[in-house]
Amino acid sequence: MAYTVPKLKDFSTNALTRAFLDLKSAFQEEVAKPRSEAEWKNFRDRWMARKNGLLAQVNDLWLKAAPKEAKREVGKLVNEVKQFVEQEFEIDHGWTNTANAFSATLQTVDISLPGIRRSIDAEHPIIRTQNEIVRVFQDLGYSVAEGPVIETDYYNFEALNFPPNHPARDTQDTLFLANQESKPRREQLLLRTHTSPVQIRTMEKMKPPLRILIPGKVHRNDPPDASHSPMFHQVEGLAVDTNITFGDLKGTLDHAMKALFGSDVKTSFRPSFFPFTEPSAEMFVSCFICGGSGKRGADPCRPCKQTGWIEILGCGMVDPNVFEFVKHNGYDPENISGFAFGMGVDRIAMLKYGLDDLQLFFQGDVRFLEQFG
Ligand SMILES: [Zn+2]
Repeated sequence: MAYTVPKLKDFSTNALTRAFLDLKSAFQEEVAKPRSEAEWKNFRDRWMARKNGLLAQVNDLWLKAAPKEAKREVGKLVNEVKQFVEQEFEIDHGWTNTANAFSATLQTVDISLPGIRRSIDAEHPIIRTQNEIVRVFQDLGYSVAEGPVIETDYYNFEALNFPPNHPARDTQDTLFLANQESKPRREQLLLRTHTSPVQIRTMEKMKPPLRILIPGKVHRNDPPDASHSPMFHQVEGLAVDTNITFGDLKGTLDHAMKALFGSDVKTSFRPSFFPFTEPSAEMFVSCFICGGSGKRGADPCRPCKQTGWIEILGCGMVDPNVFEFVKHNGYDPENISGFAFGMGVDRIAMLKYGLDDLQLFFQGDVRFLEQFG
């Protein structure tokens, strides 16, 4: 039997309380029943309709009918009833959580459909690769150092043993900031072309021994194509101490490459030239894609150009001329020595993920980036 608002003969507190409790339990039973928008609307109208809704009846049958002396108490009760019912309609109180209950607030949502998944940030493949490199060296006791992306000519070139008009400056195709012609050369601002200025900045602040890793963005005036970008990422390392030798450099980097690319990769060092290291070398790892064979099945291995080796980084013993710039802070090349290395993170990420177009990293296409989530 559906609940109807009873006429009250007895207006005692006891009787009023019982009437309220009956109404409450009737409401609570009914509120769980609607299974569709139409049923919900009927339920709502049954209770809330201005004309002859149950609340309106409570007003008529209880309050209006009450004898004078009971009006005050009945009035209080009727207000409580109203508040209770109205609050129940206002608050969600579990309708949205009860799978088989229908909620007014969800009437436009088909709850049988899967929810909308909000994608949380995926680590960008370049940052992920950079972090992997950093972690390998952190395990060896290196700490991370950072510095400004907008640098002075002094830190980017001069203190790294590139004299003015040195040919190596041309090969870097530097992006200078405009309107600085009136400044002395060493104070002119540019977008750093490598992370190496942070080596000098750190040595100015910290005395030896030093083991730092420098990840960061660098810029060169290269038009974007499949293997170039005007902005890219480097990780450099610097170790300075007494008696550091080329053997330490080889051992450290060989260990790091095995940690990054697998314990069976081999490393090979070939002489090279950088203004800030002497001697300098390029380091190759045996191709971790074809296993060093230069072939993938019957096809040539493209990443290593069929040589079985991939060039990964440049390195060398810190040139004593570089230490001269920070000699005042304990870096006397008579007493200390060090090695440095630098690698391009973007290229390593391309190799790791088997990509042949660098631009994919920078186009911000969610369909591409999602794959790394
Ligand atoms: Zn290969």
